[in-house]
Amino acid sequence: MRYVESVIDLVGNTPLVKLNSVTQGLAATVLAKVEYMNPGGSVKDRIALEMIEAAESSGELKAGGTIVEPTSGNTGVGLAMAAQRKGYRCVFVCPDKVSQDKISVLRAYGAEVVVCPTAVAPEHPDSYYNVSDRLVREIPGAWKPDQYSNPNNPLSHYHTTGPEIWEQTDGRITAFVTGIGTGGTISGTGRFLKEVSGGRVKIVGADPEGSVYSGGTGRPYLVEGVGEDFWPVCYDPTLTDEVIAVSDKDSFQMTRRLAREEGLLVGGSCGMAVAAALRYARRLSADDVVVVLLPDSGRGYLSKIFNDDWMADYGFLAPSSQEARVADVL
Ligand code: PMP
Repeated sequence: MRYVESVIDLVGNTPLVKLNSVTQGLAATVLAKVEYMNPGGSVKDRIALEMIEAAESSGELKAGGTIVEPTSGNTGVGLAMAAQRKGYRCVFVCPDKVSQDKISVLRAYGAEVVVCPTAVAPEHPDSYYNVSDRLVREIPGAWKPDQYSNPNNPLSHYHTTGPEIWEQTDGRITAFVTGIGTGGTISGTGRFLKEVSGGRVKIVGADPEGSVYSGGTGRPYLVEGVGEDFWPVCYDPTLTDEVIAVSDKDSFQMTRRLAREEGLLVGGSCGMAVAAALRYARRLSADDVVVVLLPDSGRGYLSKIFNDDWMADYGFLAPSSQEARVADVL
């Protein structure tokens, strides 16, 4: 019989897929690390598992405890999945810009979800950071992983994502491109790739226009899961060679192209990361191998990015080649 002991054993070891269409005209090879292949559907399964297991070892999380976390959804799914296998209760706090679809997924795993307003400052009592702090104080046996400051977030990428990419590219990777949210992915993977390559691999951040990582003020944008209005502990900016800012419009148009042209139904931060990767790859040669990490699936965004009316309302709908062709025939 060939089987794994539990769904948790399926986290990580995601494939690299070459991008063939959106890369036309570029000399470099661009490979996508497809994180929706994780059992919870996103890159965050990796950090959830490492943070929980570290807290079990340190005694911070005890049998029957409750996991409380402010999360835009993906970390919640990873935590809820692992918690369900390990017998913990989960309470998640989400900003109200998060898709209803994502919140329904968390509830489907048996988690409780509290929704807070996006349009308040982080120090406001109703901000999702403060609400989660209050819940941790009030619920007995509560433990907050705090993905923004937990060293096991970047460490999980140092232990898994980085080594996987190095091995899968046979050490030929020359640049790694990824979005920056908590900074865990870029800092952990980046540190491993810098160390193993003697500093040769370039580490490139992708950031929504408006976010602080690319010099913005923290003004709102629509891409979910990336960008910040503060500098989290998990982000080590010394590892990043460059940060490329991408508009919502470019992020979402690229997200739709990935589905139509590459067969990759992925989320908005994936389109953002690919847009940045392609912009970066324009300068590179045929010897270059760029790996771009795609954090999650497009299924959580069907009513937004993949909905023509929603896109048109924001002025994001460009007639893609396929849409234009259908219009010509009609
Ligand atoms: N994209 C999505 C959809 C995410 O949920 C996250 C995590 N917040 C990221 C990208 C960024 O990853 P990280 O937190 O490791 O910087």
